Amino acid sequence: MLGLMMNTPLLISSIAEHGAQFHGGREIVSVTADNPLHRYTYRECVGRAKQLANALNGMGAKKGDRIATLAWNDYRHLEAYYGISGAGYVCHTINPRLFPEQLVFIINHAEDRWIFTDVMFVPLLEAIADMIPNVEGFVVMTDNAHMPETTLNNTVCYEELIAKESLDYTWPELDERTASALCYTSGTTGDPKGVLYDHRSTVLHAMAEIAPDTMSLSSYDSVLPVVPLFHVNAWGVPYSAFMAGAKLVLPGPKMGDGETLCNLLDSEDVTLALGVPTVWLALLQYTESAGKRLDKLQRTIVGGAAVPRSMIEAFRDKHGVEVRQAWGMTETSPLGVANSPKAGLPEMTPDEQLDLASKAGRGVYGCELRIVDGEGNELPWDGEAYGPLQVRGLWICSDYYKLAGAGGAHTDDGWFDTGDVATIDPEGYMAITDRTKDVIKSGGEWISSIELENTIMGHPAVAEAAVIGVAHPKWTERPLLIVIKAEGQDVSGDELLAWYEGKVAKWWIPTDVEFVTELPHTATGKIKKIELRKQFADYQLTG
Ligand code: AMP
Repeated sequence: MLGLMMNTPLLISSIAEHGAQFHGGREIVSVTADNPLHRYTYRECVGRAKQLANALNGMGAKKGDRIATLAWNDYRHLEAYYGISGAGYVCHTINPRLFPEQLVFIINHAEDRWIFTDVMFVPLLEAIADMIPNVEGFVVMTDNAHMPETTLNNTVCYEELIAKESLDYTWPELDERTASALCYTSGTTGDPKGVLYDHRSTVLHAMAEIAPDTMSLSSYDSVLPVVPLFHVNAWGVPYSAFMAGAKLVLPGPKMGDGETLCNLLDSEDVTLALGVPTVWLALLQYTESAGKRLDKLQRTIVGGAAVPRSMIEAFRDKHGVEVRQAWGMTETSPLGVANSPKAGLPEMTPDEQLDLASKAGRGVYGCELRIVDGEGNELPWDGEAYGPLQVRGLWICSDYYKLAGAGGAHTDDGWFDTGDVATIDPEGYMAITDRTKDVIKSGGEWISSIELENTIMGHPAVAEAAVIGVAHPKWTERPLLIVIKAEGQDVSGDELLAWYEGKVAKWWIPTDVEFVTELPHTATGKIKKIELRKQFADYQLTG
């Protein structure tokens, strides 16, 4: 017997409508290239998204068409999110930091019909225009006064495009499984793979995200996503903020700029900020050098890479800010686990609290976890056993776009193999020890590069660090520690190695240390280990 409850589809347009109706006056503040601090309201945002939906209709877009964006976090990009997906098209967010060949691959693979672009990415598109023949035209997200000279064909000014459209628009009643957005994983090997989100997964993910033990998002919050709209839908914040009625602060092209972030956090009363560890390193370095304290910020959600314990400590002890670590992937929308204490845990010392906060987090309803051994047998949740991490759930990808099972990341029993290696403790807190391909294999055992990096980040003379495995005749691989020294600090390799004593197993301690002035990062701020491994491929270990 079926129940007798309404079967209302879960649609992204319903989030826009909810936001406009119940929080219509809530503010959205953006740093943009043509306006240093643009302000308007949810109501205006949704109105303009509807004008955009009307415009797309006029441009001949058909349901399911991929419409791409190549842009930073600002209000026009947000309007594209709602206007494109809400109207039944697929919003394909492109990462502008990809190599030109990768851009060409994904634009062609996605069969994008139009590309909405920031002014600053017009030269990038000009350089590849000949190789993306299926793109019918380009919408430059600016006003008439700031339209660039360009060799691109069929170029339209965004403000002109929507200005002539009506604010009246009725969102279509779509099937909730309709594709809504497309994001390609920035695969370090092979071609990028497309993750195709749908309306249902997006709405459920946003609902899970606002929960108290996850982001604890409410209308009292002011949220700054420093995670790009082109990376996993800015971790779902555009949707969850509209659901909760939180003020949105969008940093535009100023993502990695500690000073801009610090000023925005302060002037816009930001209570919650989200980003990868590298972004917060830049912010903490700025506050330290400028002698500033983050008085208004209450909590940060940090994920995308392991969060150094020293960073959690600095936020807590210097700024009174709670760090909530989270783990996720493009394939998981991205929320997989989130870290906050839970009822029933024994009283913890401040040090033990840091230990707990250093883990990736615990399960969120909607995403199941398991760790397995080499044969696929489940491993115990004892905090010791480690193995490949697999997930399944309400917002986890079931396949890659147009790969029809050839992605090789799903098990026969329907779990997604994350490519991460993890432990899970008896309370359900998961900790990532490595990416499968970054694990250092020494003498038949695995060494966690993440733990070695996190430990050394606690040394006051270290600004940033990475650990990679380097070939060793006897041990197969040994860890090499690569360090950027903190400004004005001097330290020797031996002093750094001594820091590990008593903190990690003796045989884990890196064999060598190299000092560098720069580490390669991905567009989303993660250290590019693959590039480091290439750079140090011929490295001769001294031990
Ligand atoms: P992406 O799909 O680009 O978002 O990358 C996802 C990957 O980032 C995961 O598979 C992990 O390897 C890494 N990652 C995300 N969150 C964490 C975390 N809290 N700790 C360690 N690694 C993480």
